[in-house]
Amino acid sequence: MPFEDLPDRLTEVRQRIGEATRRGGHGQEVRIIAVTKTHGPEAVAAAWNAGLEDVGENRVQEALGKMAAETPPVRWHLIGHLQRNKVKSADAFFLVHSIDNLRLAAAANAHAASIGRPLPGLVQLNVVGEETKGGFAPNELNAAADQLSAMPGLDVRGVMTMARLGADEAELRRTFSGARAAGEALRGRGFKATELSMGMSGDYEIAVEEGATYVRLGTILFGERE
Ligand SMILES: *Cc1c(COP(=O)(O)O)cnc(C)c1O
Repeated sequence: MPFEDLPDRLTEVRQRIGEATRRGGHGQEVRIIAVTKTHGPEAVAAAWNAGLEDVGENRVQEALGKMAAETPPVRWHLIGHLQRNKVKSADAFFLVHSIDNLRLAAAANAHAASIGRPLPGLVQLNVVGEETKGGFAPNELNAAADQLSAMPGLDVRGVMTMARLGADEAELRRTFSGARAAGEALRGRGFKATELSMGMSGDYEIAVEEGATYVRLGTILFGERE
């Protein structure tokens, strides 16, 4: 059976998440997104059978392929970059975590108006100014919020961030608490923005301590990717 140790891995992860939630003291609920990128549809089935209802993919095409295969009724999350000219594909997802610039936001807003349904999304934040990653810098957020307020087609549910590869604990905390502060700022401006998508296999416990409501886990559930 593929991924036969997934249930045991998941039990351990859930326990660690519970402990991290208590240490962090934010009292949030944490959902696990099973990141199935590079694995076949059988990973989605394994996740569902293990009791996971949320699946994340970072590429649109790969995700659409798995949706078309016989897979269980999971909620699909887009956690990678969405090209503006592919904004229609956002319809296939429960939540787009990667609203990383205003031109994409505007395209999503226009598309939502055309189909008559707002698009649920997270604002991607680039806390430490990594040039290789998209996302808003914290000091751009206020101006961006003004623009987003004028886009009723975009349902801003919260903030997503990724820590820098190799970041030490102090930087991880700075990154994750920066995202939490951004969420608070958005709520202060009238957005619902209660979700915080942050934490991957190597840093999810710290992310949960800092308030994550979604952790995006691949390797720790499914093993190393090829
Ligand atoms: C691949 C990926 C993950 C999962 O990474 P792991 O380290 O394997 O848990 C999480 N978030 C994003 C955006 C990813 O692309």
